Amino acid sequence: MTRVAINGYGTIGRRVADAVVAQPDMELAGVAKTRPNYEAELAARRGYPLYAAIEDRVPRFEEAGIDLAGTVDELVDDADIVVDACPSGIGAENKDLYEEYDTPAIYQGGEDADLVDTSFNARGNFEDAVDADHVRVVSCNTTGLSRLLAPLREEFGVEKARVTLVRRGGDPAQSGRGPINDILPNPITLPSHHGPDVKTIFPDLAIDTLGLKVPATLMHTHSVNVTLDSEPSADEVRDLLAEESRLFMIRPGMGIDGAGKALDYADDLGRGRGDLFENAVWSESVSMEDRDLYLFQAIHQESDVVPENVDAVRAMLGLADRDESIARTDETLDIGL
Ligand code: NAD
Repeated sequence: MTRVAINGYGTIGRRVADAVVAQPDMELAGVAKTRPNYEAELAARRGYPLYAAIEDRVPRFEEAGIDLAGTVDELVDDADIVVDACPSGIGAENKDLYEEYDTPAIYQGGEDADLVDTSFNARGNFEDAVDADHVRVVSCNTTGLSRLLAPLREEFGVEKARVTLVRRGGDPAQSGRGPINDILPNPITLPSHHGPDVKTIFPDLAIDTLGLKVPATLMHTHSVNVTLDSEPSADEVRDLLAEESRLFMIRPGMGIDGAGKALDYADDLGRGRGDLFENAVWSESVSMEDRDLYLFQAIHQESDVVPENVDAVRAMLGLADRDESIARTDETLDIGL
């Protein structure tokens, strides 16, 4: 059994911890928290071994009546691999700790690409992470774009992708984020960071991206235009995308008209937290004009990177090849709608 540690038990870390517990070939070594807040209490409730991320704060956990198994350095020493799900920039600060104990580490999309040996998306470049010590699972938006572009590149060839990303202002629990009542080109200048980030997965891809931020918390929405090398019909594109387990093709007649209903549907799938791990692609939006493909997709920012972290563990430690790992992760997390 591969022992996986989680450092940073927030939006992403909590989900990855549960996903690790669901894997037959992995066990959760423990989770590290800086404070004895509600997230620490939830970890204790689930019976997850809890470690203090900052040694000086051990007394605060004791005062809150939350038992600790130790401090983060003991957790990192004990684990075969660590998933760092700390806020952007903290992962880079933690790298020395992981190197000190010779523990391979997975970082999240908020870290710079040059921190790691390779950026990672299971469908896009699984093999690049084999035997790597430091790997970054790309952001929610880059994950969503990589999953879509990988099969298009393989089957039809991609001359150029152009994507406008309408991004949620913050996650539901991020009460300090915005905008509250505005529509912001963000950034105002081109390109948004997403295009260059997708190129960390597909270095030879031509892609331009524009970003906006809107007063929403549910999901991101992408307006996608891809000029293909060949000229398939819209049905051929739909059939190709339908074969991908991490693309959920919203069929006509489902009545899912936006992120609200997509997550309402996900709520009742019984996965816990109402997570939608798959890209939600509107089948009806898939259109071809000569070699130009157009479509809309929505991305559940809080959950789409979760299966990717699980697959990154297997890639780095050589536990399975791409197809085996994706299949195992999908089966255990009930992915593939
Ligand atoms: P979050 O704020 O929800 O969770 C981070 C957790 O780390 C919090 O519990 C915080 O208390 C804890 N923490 C802070 N400093 C720490 C330290 N030194 N040691 C241990 N724990 C520490 O953040 P998040 O949304 O889960 O984001 C984590 C990473 O995932 C970021 O790189 C982010 O860019 C990336 N990401 C976030 C999303 C998203 O939409 N939330 C999607 C994809 C990727």
